Amino acid sequence: QDDVHLPHAEKKTIADHLRKYESLLTLTPQRMRMIVHAFEDTLDIGLQKDGQIVPMIPTFVFGWPSGKEVGEYLALDLGGTNLRVCLVTLQGQGKFQVTQTKYRLTEEQKQDEGQKLLDFCAECLDSFIRDTLGRTEEDGLLPLGFTFSYPCSQDKIDHGVLIRWTKGFGAPNIEGRDVAAMFMDSLKRFNVPAELTALINDTTGTLIASNYVDPHTKIAVIFGTGCNAAYMENAGHIPKIDSIGLPKDQGMAINCEWGAFDSFDHQHLPRTKYDIIIDESSNKPGEQSFEKMIAGLYLGEIFRLIICELIDAGDLFLGQNTYKLEKAYAFDTAFLSLMESDITDELLTVIGVFTHFFGVETTLEERQFFKKLAVLIGTRSARLSACGIAAIVSKKGYLDEGCAVGADGSLYNKYPNFANRVHAALVDIFGEKGKNIVTHHAEDGSGVGSAIIAAMTKARKDEGYF
Ligand code: BGC
Ligand code: MG
Repeated sequence: QDDVHLPHAEKKTIADHLRKYESLLTLTPQRMRMIVHAFEDTLDIGLQKDGQIVPMIPTFVFGWPSGKEVGEYLALDLGGTNLRVCLVTLQGQGKFQVTQTKYRLTEEQKQDEGQKLLDFCAECLDSFIRDTLGRTEEDGLLPLGFTFSYPCSQDKIDHGVLIRWTKGFGAPNIEGRDVAAMFMDSLKRFNVPAELTALINDTTGTLIASNYVDPHTKIAVIFGTGCNAAYMENAGHIPKIDSIGLPKDQGMAINCEWGAFDSFDHQHLPRTKYDIIIDESSNKPGEQSFEKMIAGLYLGEIFRLIICELIDAGDLFLGQNTYKLEKAYAFDTAFLSLMESDITDELLTVIGVFTHFFGVETTLEERQFFKKLAVLIGTRSARLSACGIAAIVSKKGYLDEGCAVGADGSLYNKYPNFANRVHAALVDIFGEKGKNIVTHHAEDGSGVGSAIIAAMTKARKDEGYF
């Protein structure tokens, strides 16, 4: 598979390489439809029993918001890269205000003791409430939505057992434990004037926040450091919660955790050797197979592995010092975005990336190749993403009536053409009707969505439901 047949030369040209990568990274419409099929089956299986590859987690978020949710709520957002604390004031009728502070997470914190990570969250929250908002215990406990964007299985909304870390996190002694209970413990020890009302996933927050402002939204997706989706399911279609005895038509948001699609057995996705290297050298080999081919954390690394392959073959940067490029994860996905945005004849931005960050000189032909490689990697990510969306659309029968998909995350928001490529892929999968499925930039799910869910939960509790 590796060798392009060449009549005489043993040295491959850039055009030869490009052809090879094109064939490795391109997804035909037919291949996508096969993936959609398998994906849909996997989603169904996830709803049947616990412990499936794609967990399909019932979130205990019951139905759509009314739009009448009002009041002040705290939202704490532990995503893949930052920690964010917000005060959200819901004003009803789809309106809200947000005050927020961001904290960068260090690599050490991601690997430090689980309870310590949560303690750090509690401390940041405490200083936000006291210093930024100027509030104390005297002002009462503010209700809090904690957006903890990792797979947690839930028995109720203020509970969630971490199934596994994703996105490179590895903090010990928290997997398999109830993160909500651990966090309540942190809140108590640091004497934080807040009360944990709901533990939510960013996708669920995005689903609810987007529907709050546009009721046409039926699906939410995050394409950021990680990748995942949520949608609303009828309780009658979720066999694994039958025992709760909800009315069959009661809506319940499902956090799919679709990043896990095709994990372990790897039967459905066209993984390349670069995907396999990323997987095997990760802290979670075998897991999150779909996510590792799509998400922002990994795209730059796929590019870098290909570049390193060419360096090793002596076909690139011969005689130059390439040690900076040889460091794992040195090539940020943001560089792919930059290269794809470069429309100058000389590809000046691409020059900048390679000379400034990696200290290597490039020819114009090489730069054109790099840009094309970025297009291939970015396009594969968008087309695979579309397969996931198509699986939910087809499962729920949304194709004919159409639906809006609220989307958020750095890849969706910043990667040039990502949304267009997702839309084009939906047409490749479904034909013209694929145009009925439209993604749009979502409301801030991890902040505003979290607050709306906290408000919905409080209202339910006041009415005496769980
Ligand atoms: C996590 C999901 C999350 C997604 C996007 C994935 O790695 O497992 O819970 O929704 O990233 O942040
Ligand atoms: Mg986020």
